[in-house]
Amino acid sequence: MGLVEKPGLLQSASAKISDADLIGRKFVVHDPESLPYSRTLPENYQTATIEYWYDVTPPKNVRGHPYVWCSHDGKRTHWKGYVMKTEDGVLFLLGHDCGSDLYGLDFNLVARDFNQMRDRQGYVLQVVETLALFPTFLGELRSAVEHPGIQKIESMRNALGRSMPHLHHQLVTALRRADGQLFLTRRVRDYAAERRRADRHGAEDEELNRARSTMTLTRWKDLRDDLRYARADDKGELYKFEEVPAGYVRGGAFLIVKPSPQEALIDYQKELQSIYHELNDQSCRRSTAYYRLQFPKLRDALRGIEHSLRSLKAAALFGEEQHLQGLARWASQEAECQGQYRVEGNRLIWERSRQDIMIEMPTDIDLPELPSIKNLLSAAGENDGTLGESGDQSLDHSSRSEFRMPIL
Ligand SMILES: [Zn+2]
Repeated sequence: MGLVEKPGLLQSASAKISDADLIGRKFVVHDPESLPYSRTLPENYQTATIEYWYDVTPPKNVRGHPYVWCSHDGKRTHWKGYVMKTEDGVLFLLGHDCGSDLYGLDFNLVARDFNQMRDRQGYVLQVVETLALFPTFLGELRSAVEHPGIQKIESMRNALGRSMPHLHHQLVTALRRADGQLFLTRRVRDYAAERRRADRHGAEDEELNRARSTMTLTRWKDLRDDLRYARADDKGELYKFEEVPAGYVRGGAFLIVKPSPQEALIDYQKELQSIYHELNDQSCRRSTAYYRLQFPKLRDALRGIEHSLRSLKAAALFGEEQHLQGLARWASQEAECQGQYRVEGNRLIWERSRQDIMIEMPTDIDLPELPSIKNLLSAAGENDGTLGESGDQSLDHSSRSEFRMPIL
């Protein structure tokens, strides 16, 4: 049985239903047998469309869960399937794998249509909810960009880069390469290398002694002198360079944000404005595929903003006196930082021969709140596990690099 034998009988349910109608359409029933359905296949079952989907599959380890009636099989045989409806309104039940038994391959197309409508309904609802929340959120974001806390962090970053370029460069390097871990390069005695050398000399001496019986004394003395000569430069203590861990930069994410904490927020703002503009544009009907791409972008941008603000909160730790003192001690010993550093209160000072250079670090940094971001994220399908995404793992270590501002 196929398309050729029964042209146009099995109906495609989509028949160009509008998005507005789609919103009210019900696709799933939880108790199909509660509907007034025909226990046998109705006469004109070929005119049917899919009305609902049901899936009463029990959780694993639950035994004896009853099956649902199948009008095709004439008994209870499935946990999931379809409620069908003929063109004169008669309902009947069809197990999920009985559709193609009954209708042939046509059924797969009809089922696909039905599922596409279900998908689209999900997106259309998301668009409606998202658009309702967007204007408020964009307003919050606009004030966040101009927030004094963000400005403070921005100036601390600029001051370090401008006034203490060597220290700044070393911090940025440590943050990028080693998650903020600092090292000092030390020259240390290499005892292992000295031991290896002694072993090597011992072996050479033994070989020289063994060779004594095989040659003239003159020849042997020449060999011995060659060996002494070769060792003349290879004695004394051996040293190596070692990187010694020297603590961590705390709250330093604001130093490596590209292009800068404020600029990063502005970039997110632009991206969100453009997403809003497109979603709000009623002049054309967007495809489901478009929504499938657009919503993850929206969620990523929102999570990116949340993550940015969380990592900027840590910037207050950077200016804490104890932390600054640690940094100053390290920087004074690290040759690349070029000089002596000290701390007075919340001021970091680079000692220069002419005049000390001083930066005052903000100690309390108040950051903007975005009260509606959670709602917008949830409207945009944040907890929608069906899309095969990683979900809310924004703090997961492995995904750090995907964010513009790592947490330190
Ligand atoms: Zn069946």
